[in-house]
Amino acid sequence: MNELHDRALGAYLGFAMGDALGATVEFMRPREIAVQYGVHRDIIGRGWLKLAAGQVTDDTTMSLALGDALLQGGPEAISQHAAGDDTLIRVIGDAYVRWFKGKPVDCGNTCRRGILRYMHEGTLAGEFNPGDGGNGALMRNLPAVLATLGDDAAFERLSIAQARLTHHHPLSDSATLGLGRLLGLLLNGLDHNTCQLWVKRWAADNRAFSFTPYRGYATAYVVDTVQTVLHYLTKSEDFETTLIATVNQGDDADTTGALVGMLAGARCGATQLPQRWLRRLQPDTVQAITHQTTSLLALAHPQPSPPSVPP
Ligand code: MN
Ligand code: MN
Repeated sequence: MNELHDRALGAYLGFAMGDALGATVEFMRPREIAVQYGVHRDIIGRGWLKLAAGQVTDDTTMSLALGDALLQGGPEAISQHAAGDDTLIRVIGDAYVRWFKGKPVDCGNTCRRGILRYMHEGTLAGEFNPGDGGNGALMRNLPAVLATLGDDAAFERLSIAQARLTHHHPLSDSATLGLGRLLGLLLNGLDHNTCQLWVKRWAADNRAFSFTPYRGYATAYVVDTVQTVLHYLTKSEDFETTLIATVNQGDDADTTGALVGMLAGARCGATQLPQRWLRRLQPDTVQAITHQTTSLLALAHPQPSPPSVPP
């Protein structure tokens, strides 16, 4: 496994770990978490969704749906999309519909509204809606980053198009592009100090997401989500410390946890992820993530076909 592959797998598995760890305390206040768990640090399931230990939620399963669609489309659909063809976005829309019809354990309101609109009208985006400022499009964009790594124009076009299927809001767009670019840099080995500088500059250029002083809101509003993610990501370099601090902030803890797990997991790589959490994830989730990571990276860096063997 090369370094890029290790970082990409660290990001995807770290994402699922954050989802599974945070889901236990989703929608709880930090004080309620402290009363019930002291510090919440184990993947034990339960929570308001009554999950099995190691079970992930919509954050991970919707990302896997996007990843499946990108693999179904393949490198041709991605380059055709970059050239203005919308076929790939319909493949993604259809994957979200299949995901939704499969009765996911959870589905955000804005995602539901967007998927129903696509089902009934076939449109690839709704009008701008001030109510679309949730984190649902941001949370599932990891596969788009892997599939377009090294091609910023393709990354931007694909990320916005997959996001707009359900969320049409400038803050959702900026957050999706900002965290996606940061993930791309971390996959390429950006160190902790340079990461802090990059985040500082990005927050200065995107004032709505400025997170110092940190206000302590970790809701599904994309501004609160991003502020929480960047605050904890830059506070510590250690994966476990970072993720535990994030989910104990409560509220949309599975989603803030997933996004912090993704970025911190890219920073440390899969080999450095806590084994006790990895063992807790459900085997089919780990298998799907491992398969997608390899295949999505291959879309970004098409492997040369093996030399043909003479008969
Ligand atoms: Mn969730
Ligand atoms: Mn959530």
